[in-house]
Amino acid sequence: MHISAEELKKNAQLILSEIKDKSLSNKERTAIPLQEMPAQDPKIRINNMEEVAQGYSREQALVESRRCLQCASAPCVEGCPVQINIPGFIKAIEEENFEKSIGVIKEASLLPSICGRVCPQESQCQEKCTVGKIFKDPNKSVSIGRLERFVADWEASEAKRSIPEIKPSTGKKVAVIGSGPAGITAAADIAKEGHEVVVFEAFHKPGGVMIYGIPEFRLPKKIVEDEIETLKKMNVTIKQNFLVGRSRTLKDLLEKDGFSAVFIGTGAGLPKFMGIEGENLVGVFSANEYLTRSNLMKAYKKDTAATPIYPSKKVMVFGGGNVAMDAARTAIRLGAEEVSIVYRRTEAEMPARIEEVAHAKEEGIKFRLLENASKIIGDEKGRVKAVELVTFELGEPDASGRRRPVQVKGSEHVVEADTVIVAIGNESNPLIKQTTQELEVNKYGNIIVDENCKTSMDRVYAGGDIVLGAATVILAMGEGRKAAAAINKLL
Ligand code: FAD
Ligand code: SF4
Ligand code: SF4
Repeated sequence: MHISAEELKKNAQLILSEIKDKSLSNKERTAIPLQEMPAQDPKIRINNMEEVAQGYSREQALVESRRCLQCASAPCVEGCPVQINIPGFIKAIEEENFEKSIGVIKEASLLPSICGRVCPQESQCQEKCTVGKIFKDPNKSVSIGRLERFVADWEASEAKRSIPEIKPSTGKKVAVIGSGPAGITAAADIAKEGHEVVVFEAFHKPGGVMIYGIPEFRLPKKIVEDEIETLKKMNVTIKQNFLVGRSRTLKDLLEKDGFSAVFIGTGAGLPKFMGIEGENLVGVFSANEYLTRSNLMKAYKKDTAATPIYPSKKVMVFGGGNVAMDAARTAIRLGAEEVSIVYRRTEAEMPARIEEVAHAKEEGIKFRLLENASKIIGDEKGRVKAVELVTFELGEPDASGRRRPVQVKGSEHVVEADTVIVAIGNESNPLIKQTTQELEVNKYGNIIVDENCKTSMDRVYAGGDIVLGAATVILAMGEGRKAAAAINKLL
């Protein structure tokens, strides 16, 4: 049953009136109920693109902060890729000093309003939390990500955001290729040292996957745009519609254009396909294309958008990660009557965030587990009309530790569909490597770097998905920071 934000706030008010001025024992703290995230009613939200999770009220944040035991060893910090002082920022919330709280977070993270929304907390900081361990249920851990989002949103609502201090100009120029979380973070940290930074972005809008991939209903674009505005106020120049490897090569930047160092943060934007018959039919999309049409080109604004989107009734999305959930949930909002996620393992092996899977189910997305496509079938006009699926069962664990799906012989069956979205992963874009032979990459095309994010080329650094393969925002941000520190040292 859907509980409204108002009810959740009232419940929190009641709890708070009993515990607010008490000095609480650990037993009393673990007895405080976990604060659910208020969310738009599923029946309403499938008809709009607005953010689903609405964020804690002040009362809920104050209650949730009291669930933290302030563990001396703070195992949660180990689980955070950028090692935010988690007990420190939560303690400041409990003391109602939100300014101090956001200050503590910002010592380690540049993008808290983004990471508080999209970080896979349940497999990072919250997985290690003592409270979850006490309940033997990681879903009962302190809601660290929600609290992080709360203080970041508080800062934005109070217009408390300040522009970081910039040191006097050094006269040196650094190029940053790509404006995703890796590029944004590297650019900010390098600009603070007084170096001139130019960000080159292939698309007409900066922000990387946070703008073109993750939908508005999970990450409002205004938040990313605000981060970009801050960068511009720090005197960072952003050159859009500029494809390094075509407009200029990496070597041109270093040898002809006067850049003292380059950071490559070009991400993993090349979609993988299934390699089956029928993938060239009309109505088959990579999740990247589908989401880019909707998010970047605003195709969901059907009356005004210059880029149309395919009118679908029965959609099948192949994959089990966040990208698959985003594509399926976008399709339902675009008016599809039936949307299914097809995944060849079980829900336990799905890499998507638990919250995204739960939200997808609430929105009526069907889950066809232990199935995969063997063929896409077209009509006489070359449009998708059905998909031949095969059934799987789980065998022995494979190299990833997950049980290997084994195809059941003779299980082929045909299911009607007019749209197929392939969301089985992304690879790195090969353009920069193709035009810069000296740059060493591994067999997957990911740039090889040392512990300081330095590549095989002098003065060239790289980080984020182009190094890690498709990873996460917080990891990309962490790498941008590490590379910036190395570049600042070099210069
Ligand atoms: P990107 O964000 O990919 O940015 C790279 C930028 O470089 C792009 O803007 C691209 O246009 C530009 N570029 C590429 N080549 C060139 C070139 N030659 N010249 C100039 N510019 C170039 N992570 C999470 O943590 N949580 C989530 O919930 C989550 N959901 C996701 C949902 C989707 C649909 C997708 C696709 C990814 C999701 N991720 C999520 C992953 C996360 O977004 C990425 O790990 C992260 O954005 C990587 O950051 P990056 O800076 O390395 O690259
Ligand atoms: Fe947890 Fe991510 Fe925040 Fe780190 S950045 S504390 S992992 S939500
Ligand atoms: Fe608080 Fe959990 Fe971290 Fe302990 S492990 S300090 S309870 S968030």
